[in-house]
Amino acid sequence: MKPLLEIRNVSLSYHTVSGETKALSNISFDLIPGEFLAVVGPSGCGKSTLLNLICGMFPAEEGTILMNGIPPSPGDPRIGYMLQKDHLLEWRNIYRNVLLGLEIRREKTPEKLAYIEEMLDTYGLDKFRTARPSQLSGGMRQRAALIRTLALKPELLLLDEPFSALDYQTRLNVSDDIGRILKKERKTAILVTHDISEAISMADRVIILSARPAHIARIVPIRLSLDERTPLAARGAPEFKSYFNLIWKELNQYA
Ligand code: ADP
Ligand code: MG
Repeated sequence: MKPLLEIRNVSLSYHTVSGETKALSNISFDLIPGEFLAVVGPSGCGKSTLLNLICGMFPAEEGTILMNGIPPSPGDPRIGYMLQKDHLLEWRNIYRNVLLGLEIRREKTPEKLAYIEEMLDTYGLDKFRTARPSQLSGGMRQRAALIRTLALKPELLLLDEPFSALDYQTRLNVSDDIGRILKKERKTAILVTHDISEAISMADRVIILSARPAHIARIVPIRLSLDERTPLAARGAPEFKSYFNLIWKELNQYA
């Protein structure tokens, strides 16, 4: 299958008054449409930097990043970005928060409004449409933030530790929830996380980055013998533990 994203020999250093910080070193990988990729690596190794390069926020120093053959540019409409904080605006109700991206881009087409209605309904947010963000649980807020991002119909979704502000129990439920939604909407996604279990439970492949400057230490395809693969079910798969140990060992070299 033709890749959606092609990353070739990408390197990047930050130059500041206090000197040079080499963040990424010779990163190459492809992402095919519909694939869910997780990226794990030690704190500060360059994971967020990699996502920022992929979304075109700034160019790579060396190497190329192509999405369907075209380099991403700042604010690229083909790419959706979800962060740890949900960035919902308290003075807007949930419906108007979900609508925000479309308003900013002036894309309130009947087709996209109908898609929002369908998602609010399917994902249980319909009855919260007039609620304020503070009236929702952390999990429901993340769901609203996801629907706001999906409303723009991005071809690629970048998730930068989106669950790390949530407590453990909520985190399990929300990652299951969001994993199911992304599968149902057939989204191609890259999830950055430092949680090995989360990476295995959600991803088709896990890329392990080394300590800074990050290079790819290993790529692990995740194959689980399950009839229906959901993030929660994946945690109970017979292969789960051996994947965990393998990734743990690899990451531990950089601890
Ligand atoms: P991670 O997301 O894996 O924790 P980051 O990509 O945020 O790591 O950062 C990688 C390295 O680059 C860190 O050492 C960080 O301090 C440095 N860094 C990140 N952003 C900047 C910046 N804008 N200017 C200078 N250094 C930066
Ligand atoms: Mg980060």
